[in-house]
Amino acid sequence: MAYAYDDQNIFAKILRGEIPNNTVLETEHTLAFRDISPKAPEHVLVIPKGPYVTFDHFCNAASDAEILDFTRTAGQICKMIGAEPGEGGAGFRAITNAGEDGVQEVPHYHLHILAGRPLGPMLL
Ligand code: C5P
Repeated sequence: MAYAYDDQNIFAKILRGEIPNNTVLETEHTLAFRDISPKAPEHVLVIPKGPYVTFDHFCNAASDAEILDFTRTAGQICKMIGAEPGEGGAGFRAITNAGEDGVQEVPHYHLHILAGRPLGPMLL
């Protein structure tokens, strides 16, 4: 499937600096920032800088360098927000929504990392 990337989506605007964000960490290929409407005491979004719509789009189309950078940055975020189980943190949840059935609001791939309270069972 070909993905049509909408460069007017809100995260594209954040990446271009047209909309402010609360950055936690920025690398060559990745930006991590605090969710504007946090669902937990720690709620960080990790996004690639490239024009990828969904998780599968990113995994199938991004370069090895982008994927490595993204993954390492997400790992750093877990450390920074003290979420690592066994490392003093109590754990976290990392989720991504994709498409209509996944109820994805912003059509630029993003990983939610939530921590800081018991998160309860995942609702399905
Ligand atoms: O996975 P989904 O696309 O539904 O999530 C989008 C997320 O982006 C929401 O949690 C929303 O609060 C967040 N958001 C944000 N900053 C914006 C617009 C949306 O952090 N300017």
